[in-house]
Amino acid sequence: MKDKRLFALKETERTVVQVGHARIGEGFCVIAGPCSVETERQTIETAKAVKEAGADMLRGGAFKPRTSPYAFQGLGLKGLKILKKAREETGLPIVTEVVDTRDVLWVSEYADALQVGSRNMQNFSLLKEVGKARKPVLLKRGMNSTIDEWLNSAEYILDAGNPNVILCERGIRTFETYTRNTLDISAVPALKELTHLPVIIDPSHAAGRVSLIQSLSLAAVAAGADGVMVEVHINPDEAICDKDQALTPGQFAGITKRIGMLHQFMAASA
Ligand code: PEP
Ligand code: MN
Repeated sequence: MKDKRLFALKETERTVVQVGHARIGEGFCVIAGPCSVETERQTIETAKAVKEAGADMLRGGAFKPRTSPYAFQGLGLKGLKILKKAREETGLPIVTEVVDTRDVLWVSEYADALQVGSRNMQNFSLLKEVGKARKPVLLKRGMNSTIDEWLNSAEYILDAGNPNVILCERGIRTFETYTRNTLDISAVPALKELTHLPVIIDPSHAAGRVSLIQSLSLAAVAAGADGVMVEVHINPDEAICDKDQALTPGQFAGITKRIGMLHQFMAASA
């Protein structure tokens, strides 16, 4: 069996993944947007608000991997068209999830980066397919996966010919129930030792509640992450999906301001 370990840290430089005008792996990248694309108004207003607050990229699911088959599954193509419009109006590049190998090619025509969600981290057919795509891939950590398993999943994408992989820690399952998941902050410095790939944190799915997101975002900066991805909704009470963790635009603006200050301090003291 070949073992090329393309993810492994070599003498070469760290990978910087370019998504539109955003460069992940250089400075600190903030990705924000709704859990799911619900309506044109909700998505475009959120996009404008997060751009105004300093976001570098817009997130939003058109295909949602839901625990229950009866929960909102996303708007599909209609959602992608809304995201495209949001990009046209704000200039923000878009990351959106793809859940099915059959959708990778055509979703790539709308997305600036493809997200592989936690539940699909070891969907090896999907990993091979996004590995053939010409768009960067944001690979979330499986909620029950070790760092080694996660890196092997990244390896599938790299080995299939796509060098642009961003790793996203989003919390793992532990015995704790107060938080939705347990943010493995140590994954950040561990990955910095193990790989040249950029690493970001998703505090929203880790915490599952708004009150903890600022602290976890600042912890991401302090730990040396390359960015964060957070969920923002113009009206969290009405969010169809993940409302308990949805920030208002105002809360998001406060967090980005503090992220900026801490990142500056870290850079100056490095
Ligand atoms: C998401 O980011 O939209 C999502 C579904 O997250 P996760 O795959 O981490 O649960
Ligand atoms: Mn969500």
